Amino acid sequence: MNAFEALGLNEQLVQAVTEMGFETPTPIQEKAIPVLLSGTTDFVGLAQTGTGKTAAFGLPLLHLIDTAQRHPQALIICPTRELCLQICNDLMNFKKHVKGLSVEPVYGGASIVMQIRELRKGVQIVVATPGRLIDMIERKAIDLQKVKYVVLDEADEMLNMGFRDDIDFVLKNTIAKESTWLFSATMPAAVKAISKNFMDNPIEVTMGKKNTANVNIDHQYFITPAHSRFDTLKRLVDFNPGMYGVIFTRTKADAQDVAERLVREGYDIEALHGDLTQQQRDKVMGRFRNKSIQLLIATDVAARGIDVEGITHVINYELPDDIEVYTHRSGRTARAGKTGICITICHSRESYKIRSIEKMINAQFHRLDIPSGKDVCRKQFFHFMDKLMLADISNGEYETYLPDLQTKFADVSKDEVLKRVAALEFSHFLKYYENSDDLNAKTDSRERREFGNAREGADRRERPTFSRGDNGYSRLFINLGTKDGFYKASFLQFILDESSLNKEVLGKIDIREMNAWVEVDKNAASKMIKSLDGKKYNGRLVRMNEADGGFKRPSDEGRSDRTEARRRIPMREKR
Ligand code: AMP
Repeated sequence: MNAFEALGLNEQLVQAVTEMGFETPTPIQEKAIPVLLSGTTDFVGLAQTGTGKTAAFGLPLLHLIDTAQRHPQALIICPTRELCLQICNDLMNFKKHVKGLSVEPVYGGASIVMQIRELRKGVQIVVATPGRLIDMIERKAIDLQKVKYVVLDEADEMLNMGFRDDIDFVLKNTIAKESTWLFSATMPAAVKAISKNFMDNPIEVTMGKKNTANVNIDHQYFITPAHSRFDTLKRLVDFNPGMYGVIFTRTKADAQDVAERLVREGYDIEALHGDLTQQQRDKVMGRFRNKSIQLLIATDVAARGIDVEGITHVINYELPDDIEVYTHRSGRTARAGKTGICITICHSRESYKIRSIEKMINAQFHRLDIPSGKDVCRKQFFHFMDKLMLADISNGEYETYLPDLQTKFADVSKDEVLKRVAALEFSHFLKYYENSDDLNAKTDSRERREFGNAREGADRRERPTFSRGDNGYSRLFINLGTKDGFYKASFLQFILDESSLNKEVLGKIDIREMNAWVEVDKNAASKMIKSLDGKKYNGRLVRMNEADGGFKRPSDEGRSDRTEARRRIPMREKR
């Protein structure tokens, strides 16, 4: 008996894989196919590309489809257009001898009208990328009501790319679902959460190691005073001449502001933000993809779904409020086995966040010194020299001009020519960095001890973390929460509108449903309270007062926002 037949697959499928040269099932196929053929068991497969996972879910899926019914019965969701087309291609090959079974790809960047037309013809398996799938659902072009099987392929990648809400939405709205099959190369907390929230006792199969962090990413951080953030960004970009990167900011306003300032100073950068139409967004992405622009700056929301090959650097201009977002950001680099660098610019008070992220991603950050102006010039100089030496002179008519060149430079020495070429190329760097400041934060010896320094070679995770109670901030309570439409961006705007303070005085902001807590520089706390307490926000009277203690401790975990608020109101009355 053929080994695939022994797993329970029907004749047509066995014939197809035999013709494709598959002789024996791969380990993941051996384990997954018999389980998945039941049609009712949830399944988690930890397997990388190349293990034969497409056939592991594709063959049982094709086996289970009822060809007499012409509505979507199975939905395969995957992160990228390339993977979507590849899965479709594999399924087409597997189903070659099955009659009346139709598979359709649905992905962004192609005509949605054409795809809708194809879906209307009646397909049983839809292979989709999350963004376009949601578009289709919103246009009522796809009916999820009778979908029996949902497959999430490369779930970790999809979450890295910011598709968590979309996946949750689909899983919630496939009400006739009989089983969910999840495939992922790694098992970060966010993937675990999907299996916990949406799957029923899944059978878990692991091929290789679990939870392997992407070892190809070098996580680096640079500590600078808050007011030097922008200069540090410029310096790091200048220090990495071949950089092809994505910069992340927390707010749209910051993305626009930083982009405008960089463009003014001659950098090759465009911002991706929510105000752009789809067409403008596609244009920016097109220019970034074909490398007409070197840098893209975006908020996490605007950058959702960016999948670009060859990104060398991700820069956190500001750390995300939610540390889980860090993985989504850093995952834009070091794709397809390549290496990449994820840079974080932070000020000393944010260092404790670095420790939390290290724990979360199970990888160590390297603290590096911000290069000096001299370092930048040296780096640019050698980069230029390399470029000069590597310039392709084989295809030009250079020989024609040589006699003229020789005449022109007859009395000029080689040294002088080289100097002139170098001056032309980067005298602006020399000038700019002539008297440049040291941008490294002046950390005292205690801080140095606590933050550690990668160059010292010790494992900093063993060291005490930054004391949150004494971090130079006061912790303020405010009686507004997301229920009031009060989000971080609106809070920042509110501060700008109502006070003369700027966001640099802020530390961690923790906004819950009913109320929020914010860390404010000790010297600015009373001014902040005076400016905001008693004001109106969306018609609601604002109450702001000093809260006690540090930020939320583990023991606070179970306490509701309302209890917390009740507990804190008398504090204000006492004042
Ligand atoms: P995948 O991990 O699904 O991307 O598959 C990797 C490659 O292995 C693809 O080119 C498949 O066609 C091939 N493949 C999958 N299963 C088998 C098998 N049992 N025997 C031989 N090749 C296979």
